Amino acid sequence: MTPYLFYCCYLIRSLHPSHHNYTYVGSTPDPIKRLRQHNGELTQGAYKTAKRRPWEMILFVYGFPTKQSALQFEWAWQHPLRSRVTKRQRIHLTSESTLGMRAPAQANLYLSKLRALYDILCTKPFCEWPLKIRFMDPAHHALFLAEGPSPLSFINLPTQLVISHGSAQDILPVIKPQKYLHRDDSAAKWFRDQPTTLECFVCKSTIEKMEMDRYVCCPKNYSKSCNMVSHLTCLATLFLANDTTSSLIPIDHVCPACSEHLVWGDLIYDLRLRSIYDKKQNIGAGSDPIKDDDSDDAIEDDDNSSNVDHSSGTNRSGENDDTGEDTDWNGS
Ligand SMILES: [Zn+2]
Ligand SMILES: [Zn+2]
Repeated sequence: MTPYLFYCCYLIRSLHPSHHNYTYVGSTPDPIKRLRQHNGELTQGAYKTAKRRPWEMILFVYGFPTKQSALQFEWAWQHPLRSRVTKRQRIHLTSESTLGMRAPAQANLYLSKLRALYDILCTKPFCEWPLKIRFMDPAHHALFLAEGPSPLSFINLPTQLVISHGSAQDILPVIKPQKYLHRDDSAAKWFRDQPTTLECFVCKSTIEKMEMDRYVCCPKNYSKSCNMVSHLTCLATLFLANDTTSSLIPIDHVCPACSEHLVWGDLIYDLRLRSIYDKKQNIGAGSDPIKDDDSDDAIEDDDNSSNVDHSSGTNRSGENDDTGEDTDWNGS
């Protein structure tokens, strides 16, 4: 299975005068296109949100280790009253009435969703993931920081969490890296310049350059100021051995060669970029072999119906959003 390069959970808010502050949580590989679907500018999908159009994008969370982990996060965010994760923090520590979260509908309002997001981000396993939040507007970011922490129990956001704000368009190379990975990208350039065998910094044994899914490298390789390359497993073991949180997955650690702070998820993301670059080169320069999914035909319906109050969240595997995406990532 090809790993997903980009898959995010997003929060949109209704601008309809009768549904003010009503929100919707979903997940998608393309938040820009997804918003257009919610707003009816593109056909297919998002029919459940049609009556509350128009919608604005508030934020999206990305950097998930796998697509399944993104869906797990999405479910917890969609169901803060039922999710074990947020129940413990929010419901046990404060009375439900003070937060106005007695009804599921209340939980879908803007502030409730920001608070639920804060809780989820501070809770295992999510607090151990290399997540990033993109707010479309700094005002939303400020409100998140002001309203997020529970009044009775202030919890710090995880240190590796990265928060930015600005338009989604500005990070298109992150959302659609397969379209923006050019020959001059430092990662691509580095990969091209490497000999056919590399040496693992940790175990000192040989790594075949083409076995891309088996090794990671310090990003300072690209500026030639560090040459640390390591087997995935070797570096993961090193990270975990130094981890004081007893996490099961590596989170972050310093580079064993140059002491640069490394976030595990970023190393994996980088590994995937190299794989895509290599695939592009093999398929042939000139044409763009990676499918451009701006056309509508392969759109998946990843409308996961957060605001329809399902009585159970057990139908996660029944989602039909798998069909179009492998094409996007594999380019085949
Ligand atoms: Zn090794
Ligand atoms: Zn380094």
